[in-house]
Amino acid sequence: TAATALRVQRIKPSPSTAAAQRVRELKAQGLAILDLTVGEPDFDTPEHVKAAAFEAIRRGDTKYTPVNGTPQLRAAIAQKLEQRHGLSYSADRIAVGGGAKQVIFLALMASLDTGDEVIVPAPYWVSYPDMVLANDGTPVVVPCPEAEGFKLTPRRLESAITDRTRWVILNAPGNPTGAAYTADELRALADVLLAHPHVQVLTDEIYDEIWYEPGRVPSLAGVEPRLTERVFLTNGVSKTYAMTGWRIGYGAGPAWLVAAVNTLQSQISSCPSSISQAAAAAALTGDQDFVRDCVAVYRGRRDVTVKLVEDIPGLSCTPPSGGFYAFVNCTGVLGKATPAGEVIGSDEDFARYLLESQQVAAIHGAAYGSPGYFRISFATSTDVLTEACERIGRACADLS
Ligand code: PLP
Repeated sequence: TAATALRVQRIKPSPSTAAAQRVRELKAQGLAILDLTVGEPDFDTPEHVKAAAFEAIRRGDTKYTPVNGTPQLRAAIAQKLEQRHGLSYSADRIAVGGGAKQVIFLALMASLDTGDEVIVPAPYWVSYPDMVLANDGTPVVVPCPEAEGFKLTPRRLESAITDRTRWVILNAPGNPTGAAYTADELRALADVLLAHPHVQVLTDEIYDEIWYEPGRVPSLAGVEPRLTERVFLTNGVSKTYAMTGWRIGYGAGPAWLVAAVNTLQSQISSCPSSISQAAAAAALTGDQDFVRDCVAVYRGRRDVTVKLVEDIPGLSCTPPSGGFYAFVNCTGVLGKATPAGEVIGSDEDFARYLLESQQVAAIHGAAYGSPGYFRISFATSTDVLTEACERIGRACADLS
């Protein structure tokens, strides 16, 4: 008989993956969908990165690698962390896996026991609560309102911590809001954390290079050296180098955790793809012009999108500081009725209305733990964004 394990019954497929699938189906039916759900760069992987992969194949780097990644890739990761944050991680403190997603999942699997709590500030990346649940933990969602910049405050952190708290997850720049903590804000969170030595912090820095503000986005491990042994810093090459399909991510942190992650990986996948590792090393150590060029393009799209959205009565949007998403406040249209007489009672209703009336696909805020919003990805052309915003405006104007 079919008998799905409880750990699977507790979770659901990723809503972003499900949305992408729905868009594919509608397109296959011949509908011209304007897709704003995309969670990956619309650029191609840079040529020199592809060349490194071809070279790895030719060289015969086509076998298992060490569980924790090739020495070349770990050296490239260590070099990035040193240059960016002044942090020095020895080889035994870096784990490499099949995407940041896998590394985060393994870190939770390696550290959570039944009932352990993980503080997840909302809006959150859709996967965190389910990853915690799949590993027998309890997600403790802490709402972080737009008025507080969608960021966890020291006060909210303090009141969410209990004896059972194992982790706090900090994702900055964040998906879906693009919000990031300043060094001062991180220092204030660190003050709270220093008073609770049993709490560890998982920082998800996957969008760190896609950044629109002056300077570089700070990392908790770099800001507060006394926390370095309690921070698991995760990142990857997917977003920065348009390498989502290559599946390489990494984590740096305490040796005990990295060893536990590697033990799990040795039993789950043995190692990430040797070819992808060669490509990722080339991405991290090679010319960074590609990243600069992408950020310039994203910035232009961000500005256009935020302006067009702000011009639509009923909608508003805090400009994201990083990443490639705009999290749009749609509370102003809730309670209104569509031309067909249906009341828009929630952000989910609104997203469905946009899709059905205007063929614009976007993901509703409740999927990120924050009802009253929807997420626009600007990893798509300015033409698509402009047309989509026009249609969203029309959809709003049709409400009464
Ligand atoms: N973390 C966040 C916040 C993300 O948005 C994503 C991708 O959507 C990931 C991690 C996963 O990245 P990777 O492709 O390295 O698994």
